[in-house]
Amino acid sequence: MKKIILNKKIKFISTIFLFAIIISIVIFLCLTGLKQEEIALSTYKMDLIYDNDKKTLSGSEEITFINNYDNMFTYLYLHLYPNAFREGASAMVVSSAEENNAYPEGISYGDIEVQGVASEGENLTFSVEGVDKNILKVELLREVYPDESITFTIDFTTTLANINHRLGYGANTINLGNFYPIICMYESGKGFKTDLYHSNGDPFYSECANYEVTINYPSNYTLASSGELINSSTEDGTTTSCMTGTKIRDFCMVLSNNFSLASKQVGNTTIQYYGYNGDTNLDTCLQICEDALLTFNNLFGEYPYSQLSVVKANFIHGGMEYPNLVLISDDVSNDDLAYVIVHEIAHQWWYGVVGNDENNHAWLDEGLAEYSTILFFENNTSYGEDSKSMIENSLQSYKTFVRIFTSVTGSVDTSMDRPLSNFNTEPEYVQCTYTKGLLLFDAIRDSVGDKKFFKALKEYYQEFSFKNVTPATFIASFNHSTGYDLESFIMSWLNGEVVIE
Ligand SMILES: [Zn+2]
Repeated sequence: MKKIILNKKIKFISTIFLFAIIISIVIFLCLTGLKQEEIALSTYKMDLIYDNDKKTLSGSEEITFINNYDNMFTYLYLHLYPNAFREGASAMVVSSAEENNAYPEGISYGDIEVQGVASEGENLTFSVEGVDKNILKVELLREVYPDESITFTIDFTTTLANINHRLGYGANTINLGNFYPIICMYESGKGFKTDLYHSNGDPFYSECANYEVTINYPSNYTLASSGELINSSTEDGTTTSCMTGTKIRDFCMVLSNNFSLASKQVGNTTIQYYGYNGDTNLDTCLQICEDALLTFNNLFGEYPYSQLSVVKANFIHGGMEYPNLVLISDDVSNDDLAYVIVHEIAHQWWYGVVGNDENNHAWLDEGLAEYSTILFFENNTSYGEDSKSMIENSLQSYKTFVRIFTSVTGSVDTSMDRPLSNFNTEPEYVQCTYTKGLLLFDAIRDSVGDKKFFKALKEYYQEFSFKNVTPATFIASFNHSTGYDLESFIMSWLNGEVVIE
């Protein structure tokens, strides 16, 4: 190395120069850091009235769309999920085998009606499209270029079916999931993602956004929601509650006149468990929620929100995840309760914070939520579940599925990465997405070792917080974190080539 001797003046200039460079670097890092923190998100502001006699939720939704894409838009597509519940819809909301459990009083229908769309004082042209009237097309007032925004308001009425589902009313709860028009995802080169509803899985895919929701409802009801309660007032038998939700990819509410609440502050998060009046296991359920939150905070990274609501509900499928809120079916047995609660809470990390297209790559969140549930029991041995046995049981269950389906139909499709509509049966969907999904994550852990596996999970969570992942970005992230090339290994699982012994 060559040593350079500077005279005093050059030293002084150099010092100033060096100082300027350091300041510039600091400013640059601050700005890029802030830029990452401050990517503007679209907002949904809703002002709603729930009419319990008509079983309708109506009002206005002001959307400020911020164009974070590389594309110019003259129109937007929005999902009208409640139209999956209308009479004559081709997409089934439950499989025919489950209809009796889903409809307690016989077949019932619901829908969403869009009364008008306006922007800056002008009525906008809109149309309801799709085979099930499942898409709303809104012609924007002007072209919206990257980084620009536009605000428009949709007036709508959603009518609920009498169904034990994520949207609908039953004996104990009124479940308000996916009740409003939400902007379809846009993928460069592919356009808007307008996938139909499906009875398998959770057919949703969305960007994180900010929400402000005001709802008026009968004051003898209690409200649980994805938001943080800002204020609430009661007058003439109705309650008006205002909530906000920041950086969440959907907004769900549940109303009930039969809720009994237990809550606890855990670190920065208030956990609220909503059971039914007369339940004697509120504290037990709250403890499961706390254990799950602490375990996943530790294993994956901190839950970034101030509240988490775990809500018992009349819901047909075990549980259902929404940002900051999960539904737990009142059908779940005491033996399965911890498993279901933990699985749904795991979705706060995998689906909620790290999002993915649940319609086309469901294994990404379901497989990891299942494996996270195994990790929970591995780390909380007081629950008396042997995580190794759980994996062995999953393996046997998957092998039995392959054997039986092969013998009955001659062949079986075990590919994992396909649209919900491409799974031939519900067992095929469950086995390929959940069971094979958890086995895949366990196989990755076996291949790379615990240290690298958990490092990779933490980095994956960090890198994709509030974003959406694809199978390719998942593989790239794990390759980077572990230092292994896992692509062909993971692909052999996804495309059904691997033979699991
Ligand atoms: Zn799940």
